[in-house]
Amino acid sequence: MGVKGWAILKFLMFQSLFVSQSQEDFDFFYLVVQWPGAYCDTKRSCCYPTSGKPDADFGIHGLWPNYKDGSYPSNCDPDSQFDRSQIEDLLSGMKKNWPTLSCPSNEGFNFWEHEWEKHGTCSESVMDQHDYFKNTLKLKDKANLLQILTNSGINPDDGFYDLNKITKAIKDGIGFTPGLQCNKDPERNSQLYQIYLCVDTSGSEFIECPVLPRGRCPSKLQFAKF
Ligand code: AMP
Repeated sequence: MGVKGWAILKFLMFQSLFVSQSQEDFDFFYLVVQWPGAYCDTKRSCCYPTSGKPDADFGIHGLWPNYKDGSYPSNCDPDSQFDRSQIEDLLSGMKKNWPTLSCPSNEGFNFWEHEWEKHGTCSESVMDQHDYFKNTLKLKDKANLLQILTNSGINPDDGFYDLNKITKAIKDGIGFTPGLQCNKDPERNSQLYQIYLCVDTSGSEFIECPVLPRGRCPSKLQFAKF
């Protein structure tokens, strides 16, 4: 190979190194928020965090990197352990908007650690730990889901609402179709449990979902009190 050939080869090798480092290894995020009333009124019940009963608002479950085919990466970097000192400045927002409901009652670090290690480490090429939590809080705030629903007359009052009406209210409010997930209360009523919104790979803009999660919601579902 001549000098020119080597130069081209070197250029290509450098380029592939650069591309592989800057590309994300997932297709989009799900922002998943959860209705605490539906987490708590199942047979398994729940425990309020040590800071007390959370607001009657959607709480964050997580920000999950996903693939277009519906599968997702998980636990991508065992070397990147959760470090609570990195979210000190976010703690009041975390406690308010990302409340733990698992038992026994705790502050929330176990839940946040799980979410970082399982999901957050799979988008480290885009966001470090601090930015992952900060950005997720920002997205939840931007979505304003409870306000969108109550503005459409859909209230957490144990009433039953049309699946289509809930979906349409959110689509009109945010501009994109959400995924809805239901679970069952002890009387076997299906109720609104989690809402999935899709977010671009930079973690900043809502987008149309490349694939919607399988939600198991019937055409009429309950919106539980909390
Ligand atoms: P994931 O592994 O991120 O898909 O989330 C599922 C896990 O999160 C399960 O172990 C759930 O019990 C747990 N989980 C879901 N919501 C909460 C919550 N609000 N507080 C604590 N743990 C939760």
